[in-house]
Amino acid sequence: MSKDHRKIGAEMSLFSKSEGVGPGLVLLHPNGAILRYLLEQFSQGAHILNDYQWVYTPHIGRAELWKTSGHLEHYKESMYNPVNIDGEEYYLKPMNCPFHFTVYNSEIRSYRDLPMRIAEIGTVYRYELSGTLNGLTRVRGFTQDDAHIICTPEQVEREVIFALKFSLYVLRAFGLTEFKPYVSTKPEGKSIGSEELWDMATEVLKKAVVSSGLEYEIDEGGGAFYGPKIDLKLYDSLGREWQCSTIQFDFNLPERFQMKYVGSDGKNHTPYVIHRALFGSVERFLALLIEHYQGDFPLWLAPVQFAVIPIAPAHNEYGRKLEISLKKMGLRVKTDDSGINMKEKIRYFELKKVPYMLIAGDKEIKQNTFSVRSRKHGNLGMMDIHSFQDFIREDLEQGKPKYIAAEE
Ligand SMILES: [Zn+2]
Repeated sequence: MSKDHRKIGAEMSLFSKSEGVGPGLVLLHPNGAILRYLLEQFSQGAHILNDYQWVYTPHIGRAELWKTSGHLEHYKESMYNPVNIDGEEYYLKPMNCPFHFTVYNSEIRSYRDLPMRIAEIGTVYRYELSGTLNGLTRVRGFTQDDAHIICTPEQVEREVIFALKFSLYVLRAFGLTEFKPYVSTKPEGKSIGSEELWDMATEVLKKAVVSSGLEYEIDEGGGAFYGPKIDLKLYDSLGREWQCSTIQFDFNLPERFQMKYVGSDGKNHTPYVIHRALFGSVERFLALLIEHYQGDFPLWLAPVQFAVIPIAPAHNEYGRKLEISLKKMGLRVKTDDSGINMKEKIRYFELKKVPYMLIAGDKEIKQNTFSVRSRKHGNLGMMDIHSFQDFIREDLEQGKPKYIAAEE
């Protein structure tokens, strides 16, 4: 039976939570932090290649900003209480949007600047009910690979298709191929934007899903009050659905932030805005990835790729030198130079699901080699560092996502 990411996370020392820190707040341990680093590195590279402009924005902003965005009116119950700075209230950000729009508004934009795709890996804080908190999948502080696409009405269809293609590429790059697209339509009651606008946007979303060769389900009335959206939902080890990628129209914020661009007619126009996240939440994506691989990550992603095991303390120095040689090749290595016996060391690294163990005793040292034990293939015999380097080259590339220009 497949395991829950919380169990694997504890066994592999990937993350924990602490009552002392607070409910729903995740501590990524070194092994989990490496995973997040690799995800983010991939994400940032792919975004820049695909003509997104990278930004960094603060974690808090003035109450006024959240009044402008409408968050204090519509979203306050999901926000943490404000902090007081110099007699003014500041809120922790539940979303990155207002900051990205402020970047957009910092200069006069022309139709020639559009589409402008502003991206950030931004950590947001939302007050989720304590009963709903779960591992890495529902937390109170999480990190979005967030972006806002600001474009002209003529560009919007192409941008939605491009964003969906990009998110499918990212999910598939990590081997996640089981997901369900939902198109969420206009909610009952209060909403912003004309009927025609909603119809047009909903059609654009449906068309994008179909043009990607997928079938969608309709989430009737499941759109936000400000526009319809596409959600890609993935499954966890228990078969539960979790929303990951999302692409959302916004008929509300361009007006609220008075966003403008100068059109080819020389007049000011209001641009279209699309919110989108591909992993969705990096923490949630990590949870699904842990469960997808059951902790047996491909070599490029494994938190510790190689364990060096000196058989006895007399072999420790040789082991440490081997570790340094491997680290100089950019590999992630741990040496166990404790006094415990070899079998226990092997058991420990098996539990941590380390792909390769390199074992060195008298025989190996004499020949300037080490014995290689692969998690997948068992004992592979003795190798020297050069033959080992050749041997793992292919394995290191296995399953490693390549950056592509999704637009092409
Ligand atoms: Zn947004």
